[in-house]
Order: sequence, then structure tokens, then C-alpha cells
Amino acid sequence: MTDTAPPTAPLRLFNSLSRSVETFEPIVPGTARVYSCGPTVYNYAHLGNLRAYVFTDTLRRTLAWKGYDVTHVINITDVGHLTSDADAGDDKMEAAARTQAKSIWDIAAHYTQAFKQNIADLNILEPSRWTVATDYVPQMIAFAERIAPQHCYELPTGLYFDSTTVPDYGALAGGRDDAANARIDPVEGKRHPSDFAIWRKSPPGEQRQMEWDSPWGKGAPGWHLECSVMSHDTLGHPFDIHTGGIDHREIHHPNEIAQNQAFHACCGGDESITPAVAGFTGARWWMHNNFLVDRAGKMSKSKGGFTTLFSLIDRGVHPLAYRLLCLSAHYRSELEFSGEILGTALTRLKRMLMAVNSLRNLAEKKPDGNSAQSAAFLNTFDAEISNDLNTSNVLAYVDIVLGRSDIRPSDRLDVLAQIDSVLGLNLLTLTRADLRIRPNDATITETEIEAELDRRKAARANKDFATSDAIRDSLASRGVEVMDGDPLGWEWKLDLN
Ligand code: AMP
Ligand code: ZN
Repeated sequence: MTDTAPPTAPLRLFNSLSRSVETFEPIVPGTARVYSCGPTVYNYAHLGNLRAYVFTDTLRRTLAWKGYDVTHVINITDVGHLTSDADAGDDKMEAAARTQAKSIWDIAAHYTQAFKQNIADLNILEPSRWTVATDYVPQMIAFAERIAPQHCYELPTGLYFDSTTVPDYGALAGGRDDAANARIDPVEGKRHPSDFAIWRKSPPGEQRQMEWDSPWGKGAPGWHLECSVMSHDTLGHPFDIHTGGIDHREIHHPNEIAQNQAFHACCGGDESITPAVAGFTGARWWMHNNFLVDRAGKMSKSKGGFTTLFSLIDRGVHPLAYRLLCLSAHYRSELEFSGEILGTALTRLKRMLMAVNSLRNLAEKKPDGNSAQSAAFLNTFDAEISNDLNTSNVLAYVDIVLGRSDIRPSDRLDVLAQIDSVLGLNLLTLTRADLRIRPNDATITETEIEAELDRRKAARANKDFATSDAIRDSLASRGVEVMDGDPLGWEWKLDLN
């Protein structure tokens, strides 16, 4: 915060545990500890995955703007995530290594690097700490040893958690769903469909690329165990907020909660956390973003055919247009994706940058004005963002602030700077020219486009409409749409579809 009064609106956040919006109270006053389930690095992150991190970044930026000292951890899952979230199938990393004929470590390094590039391109703040699952195997074994006697049983395939040994198993998902779990490939000998692997033993005679010795034999940790252990190790339990996509509300997070309940039972559960869930869940808030969907449904890595941020950039779309698209919907609503919708977001971003630019010119020309209403503006912004991160209303409010010609331009710029510290769109530093990224496969350069448009202007001036139309059609065939009379003054744009 700058010289204006600090924001005072109570921060209201939807807690999936109670399925209601609650007022955020940090465990340690003035601080906020946040853990976000990170990517499984067997492939590139798709736009849906990245929506999850735009959401956590908005949460983190909001907490920081409201004055909390934020510690944010994102993990990298490089072992343990099976092709089915509920313990069936192959390890995604082992499977990718086989298909791509590479070592798992190379696969993990490549896709981790790619993910960090996506994060930077989307102006998502680096977490205070990245934790890598394979760095925590000894801690995972220690955690499992502690809960095993009372909560686990051993089968030839591994060590399994008995989901009936904790109170209210599956409450986060809205209750135990044995019917859903029964549809998942059964594991021979599991006592209940919702029981899950804490440790998976390497199959006899098979050497896996990633395996460790443990009291239950050579093998690898279960995916759910990782997040319980890494969040405990880095943030301590209970911490404030655990985030993930809404798919995690059904299996991964209920299983983390069950493990946390088991682990802490011996140290006294914190019954005050949320009355809806008996015992200790590990985090006070469990928050989930909804899906990004396209024509084929939920965008998903395993389904293939997904869109990456790299491919958008290759097509000439600035990554912050995708960030703006994410912010234009509430994080708890489904968000539809298509080239057209993205094109609209890009235009909206351009329009905002043009307005900020005019405001900057005005501020230079007319440094003095009559009123300073920053406080009132910021209060409205505070109310919107504190209302469970209502970024779509905040974006609408940005347009209002930009258009308030009765307010001193420099005051409006100050307010926008603060709002943008939460939106992360670089509204005050990005220029319209920055948005013009040359598509990788463009068969035409910007200079050629401009030359063709000059030729077209000359033809129109001579009333030679046949030539003018032919030039427009030839540009269209090369993916360039001529935009006559565009209100933003853009003469052309590249077709994004
Ligand atoms: P993964 O790399 O599959 O473990 O997923 C990383 C994050 O992306 C998790 O928080 C998922 O819940 C989330 N996620 C996966 N698919 C989507 C989607 N289509 N829309 C939004 N979030 C998603
Ligand atoms: Zn996780």
C-alpha cells in the first residue's frame, strides 16, 4: 500500500470445507501461508492448468495488497501421480519416460522449466518456495511410518490407507463416494474402494527408474502423501489456505486431509478449524478453481489435444491476454475457451492500454486538477476484490476509473497502479506495440502488411475498389484481417482461429 489508508474490507473467501464464503482470519496475525498443488511434470501445462495458477496468483496478490506477509509454496510433482487420480494405472512420469525414450529426470527437468517459463510469461509471481516431490522422500517415509500402525495396511502392491480410520472421510468432496470409487480400477485386496496408496511397491522383477528403499520394500510414494508432507514441512500444520483445481476436491484433497488427520491425531486435533469436518484438516481454507473448458469439454493433459501457452504465443497472442481472459470470469465459474473468446480478451487488453496511455498523456499535460478521490476508488476496489476475489467486477471497475474525467489523471493512475498490483496485467508498463507478437508460422511480415495496406489506401483513393478488395482478400488468405473503421484504430489483426 502507498500513502492512502490500508484496505479495511473483511476478506471473504469461499471455503470448500464448509461450501460457504467465510471471513478470512489468518492463524498468525498479519501473515498468510498458502500451499498450491503444483503441476505433474510429464507434459506441458495446458491453459486449464495455468488457470489454476492465475487464480492462486490473484489470491496471493490480494493477500499481499491487503497487507499480509504471504508465504506461498507450489510443489512440482515428479513422482507418484498415477494415470488415474484414484490409485490405478501407471505412474504418469514412468509412462512418459517410456513413450519418449528419455530418463524421468530429463522429462521432469524439461517440463519443470517449461512450466516456470509459463509462470513468468503470465506474470505470475514466483512462489516463495518451489518444492520438488523427489526431494522429500525421506520425510514422506517418516510420515508414513507414523500413521501406518493405526491407519494403514500392507498388500503385495503397497501400503494402503484405510479411509474408515478417520472421521468424516471425504467430507470435502461432499461425502464418501464409494459408488464413484467403485468405478475406478480396483486394486486387489483393498478393503474399501476409497482406500488409497501411501507407498507403491515396485512390482517384483521390475526395475523402475524412480524407486527408493522403505520399510515396505522398494517403491515410490503415493501422490497424496507428497502434498501432506511438503505442506507440513514448509508451512507447518495448520496453515491458512490450500489451493488446487476443482478436480482435487474429489480425491486428492480428501486423501490429503485423511492423512493429516491421521498424522496429527496423536498431537491433538484442532477441532475449532471447521465444524463441518471433525478433526484436523491441515489447512483452514481449501479453495478450488473451476475448469477451463473448450468444445471438447474440460481441457485435460491425459485427453491430449490441449492448448498450451506456448502455442498461443506462437500464434501471435500475448500471454497477458490469456491472463485477462482468466480474470474476466469468477474463479469458481467454468470458463470457456476458444480462439474467438481469446481474441475478445486481446482487444479488451489493447483498449485498456490505449486508455492508460491517454491518461498518462493527460497527466503530463495537466498535472493539477481539482479533486483527489483515491481513497473512495480504492475502497470500491477493496470491496470487490475482498468479495471472494471478484476479478470480473474489478475489471469492469477499471473501465469506470479510466473513464472518470472529473478526477485528476494522476490520481486515476495511482489507483490503477494499485489495482494492477492485484490484477498483474502490467497495465502501466505494457504498450500496445508489446501486444503485437509475430506468429511463428506467419507468412507475412508486419512491414509487408503495412505496404499492402498503403497500396490498398491508394487504390481506394483512386476509387479502384476492385484492387482494394483483391488486396483485402489476398491478406485474408494469409491470415490477416483488414479492420476498416475499427474503433481502436487498428488497421489489421491476425486471425486467431
Ligand atoms: P496437474 O498437472 O494435472 O496435476 O494439474 C495442475 C493443476 O491444474 C491442478 O490444480 C488441477 O486441478 C488443475 N487443472 C487441471 N485441468 C484443469 C482445467 N481444465 N481447468 C482448470 N484447472 C485445471
Ligand atoms: Zn497436491
